[in-house]
Amino acid sequence: MMTIFQKILDREIPADIVYEDDMVCAFRDIQPQAPVHILVIPKKPIVKIGDMDEEDRNLVGHLMHRATRIAADENLTDYRLVINNGEGAGQSVFHLHLHILGGRPFAWPPG
Ligand code: IMP
Repeated sequence: MMTIFQKILDREIPADIVYEDDMVCAFRDIQPQAPVHILVIPKKPIVKIGDMDEEDRNLVGHLMHRATRIAADENLTDYRLVINNGEGAGQSVFHLHLHILGGRPFAWPPG
């Protein structure tokens, strides 16, 4: 199924893209939950993190590493990285994405 994130990758709908390479793309969340809220997605359409294959380990490692660099570029020292897996965990777009949230304090446990 074609997701909104695939449409962003295909340039069918606009997005505020902050980073892109051959494996991943990062853009600002349209409904930010913090002063900095960026989504990092693989170009490969993995539905959710629980679906990643053995062969995706490098890709997911790269995704995570890029997220730390993007957070640094945003001048964040403290930030939260979140992946929601499945509807019950809050996933609403079924193309794997890592949230980078920063610029405000965060509570624990999360809601
Ligand atoms: P999830 O709830 O973990 O699946 O996160 C999906 C995120 O995608 C939410 O934070 C939405 O605000 C965000 N989102 C949905 N549509 C768009 C869009 O078109 N551009 C940027 N972010 C989007």
